[in-house]
Amino acid sequence: MKNNYIKTAPISLKAFIIIYMSLALVLIILTYSIVTIKLDIGSQKKQLDEDVWEQCNKLSDDFVANEFTMVGETRDLNYSVDNIVTFFDGSLIVVNSDYRILKDSSGQAEGSYIISESVMNTMTGKIGRSVSELENYYQYIYPISENGKIQGVILVCASKNRIDSMKSQIADRNYLIAIVAIAVGIVLVCFGANISVRGLKKMNEHMEIVQHGQMGQDIPVSGFKEFRALTENYNSSIKKLMEIDTSRQEFVSNVSHELKTPIASMKVLADSLVQNEQADLEMYKEFMSDIVLEIDRESEIITDLLTLVKTDRKNADINISEVDINSFLEAILKRVAPLAEARGITITYESYREVVADVDEVKLTLAFTNIIENAVKYNVDNGWVKVTLNSDHKNFYVKVADSGVGIPEDCKDKVFERFYRVDKARSRDTGGTGLGLAITRNIILMHKGTIKLYSESGEGTTFTIRLPMKRVEEKASSEQ
Ligand code: ADP
Repeated sequence: MKNNYIKTAPISLKAFIIIYMSLALVLIILTYSIVTIKLDIGSQKKQLDEDVWEQCNKLSDDFVANEFTMVGETRDLNYSVDNIVTFFDGSLIVVNSDYRILKDSSGQAEGSYIISESVMNTMTGKIGRSVSELENYYQYIYPISENGKIQGVILVCASKNRIDSMKSQIADRNYLIAIVAIAVGIVLVCFGANISVRGLKKMNEHMEIVQHGQMGQDIPVSGFKEFRALTENYNSSIKKLMEIDTSRQEFVSNVSHELKTPIASMKVLADSLVQNEQADLEMYKEFMSDIVLEIDRESEIITDLLTLVKTDRKNADINISEVDINSFLEAILKRVAPLAEARGITITYESYREVVADVDEVKLTLAFTNIIENAVKYNVDNGWVKVTLNSDHKNFYVKVADSGVGIPEDCKDKVFERFYRVDKARSRDTGGTGLGLAITRNIILMHKGTIKLYSESGEGTTFTIRLPMKRVEEKASSEQ
């Protein structure tokens, strides 16, 4: 049979973890590398700018000291210019306020004039020092000021080579680190994935053992929190299934035993008749009426069993109608009265309110008859049974108290079990099948009510039943 609820993934959980984590790792490390390269390059460029401005500043001071001329003692000036040109692998031009080139590091343009927008902007003070990026150079323009007045401009071209080679060095270094980190990361991810699925593998192995019949074996709880929770849930589900299985087996063996008992009695009776050659009509009549009693008992057990099975189903049919609970209880008491009178038991009924409720009248009659009949059956001669009815805005409560034999403490929960009887002989004498309270409880539960039992051995028993007056239908799960 195909299970529609299990959608099989095309890959294993381990492969999924490895692929997913590795991709995430590669993505993170590559992003980190790219960002750090950019930041490194940025700080290198900033350093270059600072170096250029520092040199320009010094040179500017030298030119101011030399009164903006290249005449006289210019050895220091030339030395500074050569230094800058060598250091920045570029060129340098110094322009005076007439736009005449005072110094050109290449020596070719000295004395000629320079007409350039950026130089003019700096000279006129429109913009301060500025940097622009050309194809192979960064161009720096620096104003030479004296007493707050711009007297000239230094124009430095610094080669991009230094930055470019740094860029490739940093990139090489970072990518190498990234590759090593990714490789180590993937190994760790594989290792982690292996550990993660180990718990599942173990669980699976144990489940296979359980599947092959060894239901009693618990799967050892170990590993991660989620696996522990899963294992614990699995173990408790298996335990519940085993309990259900055991109770089913018990029920089947109880049913067989209960059904066999009357048959065995009938066989004994019939055998005695067959083997007794002198049996007269009187004896036949006596034995046959005993056999009829056993047949009645067998039929009673079968009827109770069928009722139990019907009320046991989760979606058992329930025919709700509006019922006047006062007259309903009075009718039941009237039917039980002869049984009570026969043993001198007094039944009293007290109702505190008028109660009308939505109930299944037939099923509830069965439930209350069981309880009230039990109160009489397990009572002492000349005892009493008190039935009271009360209600609040939501529920009604029926209390059935008796002065009977009571139920011992250790049997209180068991009396609701199928075929459980405190005193087997007494129950059989009074015609009990041991199914009455199990059926009653099923019916009360069908009505979303509760049944509680208070009892002292030898001092009587009280059953309290709470039932809702209005029936609230559950949202049908079959809507899906
Ligand atoms: P039965 O058919 O034997 O009466 P029930 O399921 O109705 O089966 O009850 C189960 C057992 O609970 C009874 O055999 C009896 O021992 C005990 N029991 C039920 N009601 C009372 C009661 N009112 N007082 C004392 N014992 C009771």
